[in-house]
Amino acid sequence: MALEQLKKEMIYYGNLLIEKGLVTGTGGNISVRVPGKDAFLITPSGIPYPEIKLEDIVMMDFDGNKLSGERNPSIERNMHRSIFIARPDVNAIIHTHAIYASAIAATRQDFPPILDAFVAVFGGGLKTAKYASIGTEDLANNVVEALGQRNGVLLANHGALCTGSNLAQAFDNNEFLEASAMTYIFSHLVGKPVVLDQETVEKEAKDLAVRYGQGAKE
Ligand SMILES: [Zn+2]
Repeated sequence: MALEQLKKEMIYYGNLLIEKGLVTGTGGNISVRVPGKDAFLITPSGIPYPEIKLEDIVMMDFDGNKLSGERNPSIERNMHRSIFIARPDVNAIIHTHAIYASAIAATRQDFPPILDAFVAVFGGGLKTAKYASIGTEDLANNVVEALGQRNGVLLANHGALCTGSNLAQAFDNNEFLEASAMTYIFSHLVGKPVVLDQETVEKEAKDLAVRYGQGAKE
């Protein structure tokens, strides 16, 4: 896909983050791996999404050098870079400050598997990365460790992050994570949510991956 098309998609999903209430103002950030090149595109630091232009998006290499773009890259560039290095299967990353996911992250607890669909999408519960200051190498390392091989992670006292094979998937995962976080929090008002046991999680993750969706085998 041409660079310009990828940049347009980043701007589209940035505005969608605002529209869907997953961030406010200049919160969160988006990155995409550049096909066929050891580089990634990342949103600029501190510019409201509706004002981001194609030339504001920064291209960086995996050593942390800026290759192109007129702006300073997102303060969380280390986190994005480290994930792309650790996870060759990940082509897109979206970090949000979604309210309900952030509420769980503020407790520094992991997000347990309490919903079948959550297990189908994420393969099990999600971890909360240990706290470290915004933009530091420590935060980047903590996030990579807590993300593991999943496509979602919470950031202690900060927010959420989802990955995907493309931007649409990274966005959908974030939206689904936030909806699930809302359910998890509300379930505490009704009673005590029952966490699916490990055996069920493993069975459902494998089973639903085969039975769910248009690729399902009858
Ligand atoms: Zn953030």
